[in-house]
Amino acid sequence: MSRRNGLDAVIAGGGVVGAACALLLARAGQKVALVDPRAPVAWQREVRDLRVFAIAPDNAALLEQLGVWEAITRARVQAYRRMQVWDAGGGAPLVFDADTLAQPQLGWIIENNLLIDRLWQALREANVRLYCPAKIETLEQDESGVRLGLDDGISLEAGLVVAADGAQSKLRQLAGIAVSTHDYEQRGVVAFVRSEHPHQASCWQRFLPTGPVALLPFNDDGEAALQGRLGSIVWTLPNAEAQRLLDAPEEQFKRELAHALGGELGALQLQSSRAAFPLRRQLAKTQYKQRLLLVGDAAHAVHPLAGQGVNLGLRDVAGLQTLLRTGRTLSSAQLARWARTRRSDNALGAYSFEAINCAFSNDALLPSLLRGHALGLAGRLLPLQRLLWQHSNGGGIHAPKATEKA
Ligand SMILES: Cc1cc2nc3c(=O)[nH]c(=O)nc-3n(C[C@H](O)[C@H](O)[C@H](O)COP(=O)(O)OP(=O)(O)OC[C@H]3O[C@@H](n4cnc5c(N)ncnc54)[C@H](O)[C@@H]3O)c2cc1C
Repeated sequence: MSRRNGLDAVIAGGGVVGAACALLLARAGQKVALVDPRAPVAWQREVRDLRVFAIAPDNAALLEQLGVWEAITRARVQAYRRMQVWDAGGGAPLVFDADTLAQPQLGWIIENNLLIDRLWQALREANVRLYCPAKIETLEQDESGVRLGLDDGISLEAGLVVAADGAQSKLRQLAGIAVSTHDYEQRGVVAFVRSEHPHQASCWQRFLPTGPVALLPFNDDGEAALQGRLGSIVWTLPNAEAQRLLDAPEEQFKRELAHALGGELGALQLQSSRAAFPLRRQLAKTQYKQRLLLVGDAAHAVHPLAGQGVNLGLRDVAGLQTLLRTGRTLSSAQLARWARTRRSDNALGAYSFEAINCAFSNDALLPSLLRGHALGLAGRLLPLQRLLWQHSNGGGIHAPKATEKA
């Protein structure tokens, strides 16, 4: 296929994963264009984004290599040093602790729109061609390249197209790549709260028969009224329960939430509106077809209980970074290998999170006794703890060099 635009790659979708991918390819010397129907909402200190992520150290290291980590940490991040997971049915908690694991921190809590804002700033500086607002409507491809038709009549030709256009990916549909989907019939209710007791830079997750509830510590910008007590919650609930709690008066919502967290953080005050997002497992049958790659939610959507959704997407990008070390052009054989490795890692994640969700969303006596013991045992065995933590950190121990103590 000819390359009238002289482009090496087109990225569809400028969410965290697509923007990181565009920046990676541009930094590797490729001529890159990014297409998105919506311009990102600028990050503002006064408005906290309800969508926050627990970014694992391996992905923080990727963002540092892309040259955006410092700008992100300068704006607002919350490092967390501890994670406590426990079962409402009883038993000892599983605790991950940075000191015990000999790490400066376990990860960082960061807003979605801050990550996107800083990545887009870097894209502009790296001369990535931005087509926004614009939508991809047609795709033609062969073994040497792709031709994409945008809704405003522009046609782009490139050696590669990366679909990072989210769970409803238009490009995935145009390429005829099937997905397997399982609707959990649950929603994740999110909000910011102020807790009576300080969060102690710790993530708290309690498993209930209806689903897990998590409180993630959040940077309060030194606000006197908050002082280490601001948290972001993700509360997994069956659809009808989620709707009931979204509609419930504020008093009732915060009382039920404090109860769901087992009273561990004391009374809670709402600091934002409430929102909810549907939960499903969705896996594309393949992440690669001719000169098209799928990354992020376009390839996989997972249960949020392990906070791995966006982390898996960034690992798709980190996998490409490894390939680019051997040369600027990505051969079909390399891409096929990348796709196999990424799909198996993503499928393993998706099914493990689903198994955990099923095991814990069960209030029969025997399973609840067993999982209480299992969590307590895992918490007492340091090698097992290390292994679990390394797995949630992309299989190794990494951290950005410049900000080890951020
Ligand atoms: C409220 C909420 C809370 C969440 N909380 C967590 C959490 O705590 N931890 C976690 O890991 N995950 C969480 N998730 C999931 C997480 O948001 C996703 O895994 C992550 O955002 C995926 O990033 P992405 O860049 O792949 O896709 P998206 O963020 O969906 O970005 C897709 C981009 O593609 C663009 N696009 C759409 N159509 C087209 C088209 N035709 N052409 C070009 N571009 C297009 C969109 O405008 C968008 O910019 C949450 C999701 C929601 C909704």
